[in-house]
Amino acid sequence: MLVATGVRYRRLDVPGMDRLEGSSVYYAATEFEARLCRQDPVTVVGGGNSAGQAACFLSRQSPVVNLVIRHDDLRRDVSRYLADRVEQSPRITVWRNTEVCELIGDGALDEVVLHDLPTDARQRVATTSLFVLIGAAPHTRWLEGEIPLDAKGFILTGRAADGPDGPDGMFETRRRGVFAVGDVRSGSVKRVASAVGEGSVAIRHVHEFLAAEGRR
Ligand SMILES: Cc1cc2nc3c(=O)[nH]c(=O)nc-3n(C[C@H](O)[C@H](O)[C@H](O)COP(=O)(O)OP(=O)(O)OC[C@H]3O[C@@H](n4cnc5c(N)ncnc54)[C@H](O)[C@@H]3O)c2cc1C
Repeated sequence: MLVATGVRYRRLDVPGMDRLEGSSVYYAATEFEARLCRQDPVTVVGGGNSAGQAACFLSRQSPVVNLVIRHDDLRRDVSRYLADRVEQSPRITVWRNTEVCELIGDGALDEVVLHDLPTDARQRVATTSLFVLIGAAPHTRWLEGEIPLDAKGFILTGRAADGPDGPDGMFETRRRGVFAVGDVRSGSVKRVASAVGEGSVAIRHVHEFLAAEGRR
């Protein structure tokens, strides 16, 4: 069995999202997205390492990066070295105790409305791209108790599942004959190209497994 059930990315349920999600909202920050943003102001939502890394990465190109977190302690969920880099960057502004409460723009994003939770004040901030990095829920509830999952519910494979390291074993779960690839796999790169690549390698192992079992 090859599991490739993916994840459900958490969305921001705010006015303007339905209208602008296709043009100005991203769920990953790679070279591709960075190129689209050019040197425009961007906003990153999220208080974890993904958001911290995205803010640092985007700040190489964009002179104005807003990092929006709902609490006041950047170090709560961001590694210390990364939090230091964020705070030392003159290009990154950390908005603490803040939520994005509305997206403004017609065909493309022009501004986000930031809601300061302690004071209830709202402020419009110029932004052309919004990066939503607030976690993803893997489609694995049906596998709970069947194969080992990590703390967030992603499927453990290879060495993480006490299996062999290297390409030969890296997609097999602890249960023989059950493989996992793509976003649902713990530690995978959440991109189309890597999901396709993992699938094409893992399917060879599926054939090898079937041959070894004398089923093919
Ligand atoms: C808005 C958005 C934009 C993105 N943009 C990019 C981009 O520009 N470039 C890029 O490289 N990546 C992008 N990504 C990430 C990319 O989509 C994923 O990395 C990639 O699709 C992962 O492929 P996958 O096959 O692992 O999972 P998916 O593509 O999510 O496919 C999983 C499939 O399994 C199905 N499924 C779930 N549960 C079950 C079940 N129990 N039984 C049967 N079927 C089930 C789902 O319905 C789905 O069809 C984006 C993601 C999002 C959310």
